[in-house]
Amino acid sequence: MQIKTILNRVQKFKSFVYGTVRLVEKTSIPTLEIELHPRANSHPVCSSCGRQRTGYDRLPMRHVEFIPMWGHKVFFVYAPRRVACPDCGIRVERMPWVKGKRHLTESYSWFLADWAKRLSWKDAASFLSLVWQGKKSGISLCLQ
Ligand SMILES: [Zn+2]
Repeated sequence: MQIKTILNRVQKFKSFVYGTVRLVEKTSIPTLEIELHPRANSHPVCSSCGRQRTGYDRLPMRHVEFIPMWGHKVFFVYAPRRVACPDCGIRVERMPWVKGKRHLTESYSWFLADWAKRLSWKDAASFLSLVWQGKKSGISLCLQ
């Protein structure tokens, strides 16, 4: 079974497909990068009003961290499209796996929040081999 098959079972997106899965060597923690692509003939959705709009351009590739698998960090890699919305102006498209400019996927955020309900943030970070960093703007966790 391929990783893409597993991802399509646990985290399928209607308008996006999984592309190349790459094992990144020479990192302190083994890392998987999973490319995402818009489904053929899909139109980007304006992140402000939620309507399908005409594409404007694409932004550089962006990495968003997904739930670690088998001791590997996992990142979704995607170059977001921008839309020319007649109501909202030029906006970045809505991506169902992440909100705004966050660095963690929604799934990973919920995964961490679920563990944090059972344990303290510090204990959850320790159990999941994460580094806990309290910040003014929120809490940041990353693999050690
Ligand atoms: Zn809009």
